[in-house]
Amino acid sequence: MSHSAKIQTAELDWELIDAIEVPISKQFGDVYFSKDNGLLETRHVFLNGNDLTERLSELEDFQYFCVGETGFGTGLNILTLWQLWQQVRPDNHSHLHAISVEKFPLSKADLIRTLNVWPELKPLAEQLIQQYPLPIAGCHRLSFPEQRFSIDLWLGDAQDIFPSIPKTQAVNAWFLDGFAPSCNPDMWQENVLNHIVRLSDYGTTFASFSVAGVLKRGLKQHGVHISRPRGFGHKREMLKAIWSDPSQTLTDPADAAEIKVQSERAPIASSSRPRQIAIIGAGIAGLSCAWAFAQRGHQVTIYEQDEPLSGASGNPLALLNPKLCPIEQAHEHLMTLSWQHALNFYSRFKAFRSIQVQQMALKNADELLGLAEQYPEAVLSVHDQQNATPETDYPSLTLHQAGAVSPQQLRDEILQHPNIQCIKAKISRLKCTDKQTELWQEQQLIATADDVIVCCAKQSAELFENYPPLKPIRGQVSWVENREQALALDQAYSYGGYCMQLDAAQLILGASFYPNRDDVDVLAEDHVHNYELIHSVFPEYAQQLPTVEHWQGRASVRAQSLDYFPLVGKIQNDGQIFTFAGLGSKGFLFAPLCSEVLAALVLGELCPVPQNLLDKLNPQRFQKKVKAKKPYYSG
Ligand code: SAM
Repeated sequence: MSHSAKIQTAELDWELIDAIEVPISKQFGDVYFSKDNGLLETRHVFLNGNDLTERLSELEDFQYFCVGETGFGTGLNILTLWQLWQQVRPDNHSHLHAISVEKFPLSKADLIRTLNVWPELKPLAEQLIQQYPLPIAGCHRLSFPEQRFSIDLWLGDAQDIFPSIPKTQAVNAWFLDGFAPSCNPDMWQENVLNHIVRLSDYGTTFASFSVAGVLKRGLKQHGVHISRPRGFGHKREMLKAIWSDPSQTLTDPADAAEIKVQSERAPIASSSRPRQIAIIGAGIAGLSCAWAFAQRGHQVTIYEQDEPLSGASGNPLALLNPKLCPIEQAHEHLMTLSWQHALNFYSRFKAFRSIQVQQMALKNADELLGLAEQYPEAVLSVHDQQNATPETDYPSLTLHQAGAVSPQQLRDEILQHPNIQCIKAKISRLKCTDKQTELWQEQQLIATADDVIVCCAKQSAELFENYPPLKPIRGQVSWVENREQALALDQAYSYGGYCMQLDAAQLILGASFYPNRDDVDVLAEDHVHNYELIHSVFPEYAQQLPTVEHWQGRASVRAQSLDYFPLVGKIQNDGQIFTFAGLGSKGFLFAPLCSEVLAALVLGELCPVPQNLLDKLNPQRFQKKVKAKKPYYSG
C-alpha cells in the first residue's frame, strides 16, 4: 500500500489576486480555494451546503457531531467551521469533531503564510498552528477541549486512509474538497467514495464545489440524493446531497437492500446527560482515562484500593522515550503515534518538562542512526560525539522531541478536575444489570455506573472470568545525589537503561527488568544493575557517582501482555465494562492515546487510530475463537 511512504509536504506557488495571496498546488496545478474569495466560498459551499448553522446550533447536551473532509489543505474550511461553531454552539456539553485527510500537508511556514490572509480567523489559526503536527503519516488528534472542538488530521493518501478508519461512529456531514476531479482523479475514485459512504449513516449530508459526473454517480449508486443549487461566484452549480433512509424514500427493494449493507449503525447514541464513569485503579492508565472522560463533561469516580500511583506508575519521574520505527511504518505504529500524542497531551500540565533524549547506539548502530534521515529534521539528529558530555565511545541519536513527567504532580493536577473524584475502595466484583453495572466491595454494593473501565494492571484479571494473561515484570529505579556533576535538566540518556536529572541535585537511573517477578523490595543488586548499565556507556561519569550504598530506589511491578500491546476495550461484548491494562514499561507513553481510543469506544466517537491498530489493542485478541468478521466495537 502506498500510504506507508514518507509524507511529502505541499509545494506551492502563490498568485496575488485583489491583494490576497492565493496558494496554488504545484503537485496538482489547482488552487486551494476560490480566487473570488475562499472564505465566502467555504461558507456558501461547505457550511451552508450541509446546513451547519441550524444543525450545530440545535445540538443537545452531550451530542457529538462529526464533520469529515477530503483534503485538509490550508485548513481554511475547518477554521471557518470552527468559527461558525463559536458563533452558534449551544451552551451545553455538545462536541464538534472534524476529521480530515491530507496527502501533502502544507509545511508549517506555508500554513502560517496562507492563513495570514484571513484576519478574522487569526485567533483560531494561531491555535491550529500551535498544535499543527509534524509531517509524519497517521492520525494526529488536535484537541481544543475548552472549545468543545477537536480535529483528527490523518496524513496519508485518501485511498488508503478512508478504508482504514474504523466506524466507531458515523460522520454527520462531509466537505468533499479534493481539487477538481479533472486535476486529481485519485481523490474521487469509486473506492474512496464507497468508504466515505461506509463512514456515513442515514441523515449524513455531503457538499462539494464540484458537480463532476464521477462524484454524482459515485454517491447516487449508494442511494444518496443529490441536488445542485447555485455555486459560489462564477460557478453555476454546486453539490448538496443527503443520504436518506431508503425505507422512507425509495420504492425499489433492490436499491434499499444495497444501502442497508453499507449501513453498519454506530454503537451508542450520544447520551443526553453526563455518564457516570467508574474507573478502577489510579495508575497512569486510570488517571489519563479519567481525564479523557472528565474533559468531555462526564462524571468520573476512580476507585483505588491503595493510594493513587502506588503501582508501577509511581516512580519519581517518568521519561517519554519512544523507540521510533522506520518511517514507513509510522502511520500504524503504536509507539510512534503515542509519542506524538503524549507530548501534545502532557504539555498542558505543569508536571511536564520538555527534554531531549540521546539514544545511544549500542548495537545495530546503522539502523538507529539511519532513522535521522527518515524523520522530519526537527525530530532526530545524529549526535556529534566530539563535545559529548558525559564522555562515551558510542555513537548516538538525539531525539529532540521528548519529555519527562512528574507522576505525582500530574496526579494532583488530574485529581483537581471538578468532574473527577477518587475513592479508596477495593472493588471485588462487577455485576451487569439491565442498563448499568454494579460495583461491589465484598458483600456490599457501593456504586452503580453507566460504564466501568478496569485499569488495575495485573489485578484486573480478578474482576473477569476470562482475562488475557499479563506477565509481571519487576523494575527498580534508583536515584542519587550528583550536585557536583549534574547533567543538563533538559537532557536524558538512554542505553538500555536511562538516566536524567530528577532535579537540580539528583540523578535518576532506570531501570531493572526482571520478567516473572513480583517482589517490590528495594534491592542493592538492582542498584548495581542500574550502575552497570550507566557504566557500560559512560564509564568515567559513572565512577564519579557516590557508591551504591548511598543510592535510593523504588521497585514496582509492571504488567505486560504477551504480545507487548496494551489491552484497550471490552473483554466481553455484552455490557459496558472495558479494560485498559498491560502497558508494561511504556505506560506514560501509551496512556494518553489509548485513553482517547477508549473514550471513542465507550462514547461512540470517531477513533484516532486505524482499524488494524484497534484490532491489535482488542483485549479479545487472545481468545481462541475470535469472531474475526465482526469488528468488536460494534458491540
Ligand atoms: N480543504 C482545503 C482548505 O480548506 O484549504 C482545501 C483542499 S485543496 C482544494 C485539496 C487538498 O487535497 C490538497 O491539500 C491536496 O494535497 C489534498 N489531496 C489531494 N489528493 C489527495 C489524496 N489522494 N489523498 C489525500 N489528500 C489529497
